[in-house]
Amino acid sequence: MTAVADYRALAERAEKELAGATAEEALRWTAETFGDDFIVASNMQDAVLIDLATKVKPAVDVLFLETGYHFAETLGVRDAVRTVYPDVRIVDAQAEQSVAEQDAEYGPKLHERDPGQCCFLRKVVPLRQTLGKYSAWVTGVRRVDAPTRANTPIVTWDERNGLVKINPIAAWTDDEFNAYLHENGILENPLVSIGYLSIGCAPCTAKVEPGQDPRSGRWAGQSKTECGLHG
Ligand code: SF4
Repeated sequence: MTAVADYRALAERAEKELAGATAEEALRWTAETFGDDFIVASNMQDAVLIDLATKVKPAVDVLFLETGYHFAETLGVRDAVRTVYPDVRIVDAQAEQSVAEQDAEYGPKLHERDPGQCCFLRKVVPLRQTLGKYSAWVTGVRRVDAPTRANTPIVTWDERNGLVKINPIAAWTDDEFNAYLHENGILENPLVSIGYLSIGCAPCTAKVEPGQDPRSGRWAGQSKTECGLHG
């Protein structure tokens, strides 16, 4: 078994060596380096990252944070992924408490009163528990998503979760992303076409107007802008 310190050093080397890698090169390196010991995260807004990953590893593990608050359409995309990519293994990471149990302990609609705690219980903790079983994870974070993501590396050491983090499409522009999506007929959440451009849990996701920052629809009206999953 490789020690954490070795993976940290590996990630630091790869951050330089793969700084200009294409998505396919980054994913091929991931599959060759980690074998079965990595997982691809998806919020099921689309299956672009899953499609790319299955090209280098058809039976890849996919992490979905099943918060209990998703739109039916989002769950529909997850189920369609199972049909379109039959070798993929979807890992539904769930909180210890159901929404009803959380309501009983903290009161209803914790997401309205304390979204930070709600995200911690329903996203951050299940994510950490799942990532603890792997040595690397792959995300769809892109530099154009938000100013805080402008310097996202292709490979890095994820200090918070203690494993290697690969962001194969970090450098993709919106045009590149949409070209891949449409030219390859990739699954996309139908809510995107009616203005939900950054999809999370239903109570915390709103439509955005054309030209607005896509992420402005997340936790609209609250100071929170991130789930706490990506630093
Ligand atoms: Fe709770 Fe909203 Fe965070 Fe989902 S996005 S876990 S509903 S606060």
